[in-house]
Amino acid sequence: MDDKLSRRDVIQKSAALGALAVFGAGACNKPAALVCTDTSSLAPADVQVRTALAYVDISTEAGKTCNGCQQFVPAPQPGTCGTCKVVKGPIDPSGNCKSFVAKPT
Ligand code: SF4
Repeated sequence: MDDKLSRRDVIQKSAALGALAVFGAGACNKPAALVCTDTSSLAPADVQVRTALAYVDISTEAGKTCNGCQQFVPAPQPGTCGTCKVVKGPIDPSGNCKSFVAKPT
């Protein structure tokens, strides 16, 4: 068996690797998941309220996300954390807490 690669083989394999690199890079350009859990700038009392109201970044209750709550203040830029009139600190639109109140329809 001849293990030598022909020039054609090298060019074809290089093209395949190039395409793989392009598609791989595209997959890496997905926006990072939103994380709104940094409470390092909050006063201890605000952290306590956040904890007492059981704020979570991802709601476990169907149809009850911060984005649908009257207290939610959306972020000025998409893909960033919003705020809340009740819970201090960064708020994920997909989050939830015990003070959820649905927006009027
Ligand atoms: Fe989210 Fe709770 Fe604030 Fe409503 S009150 S926006 S559910 S953190």
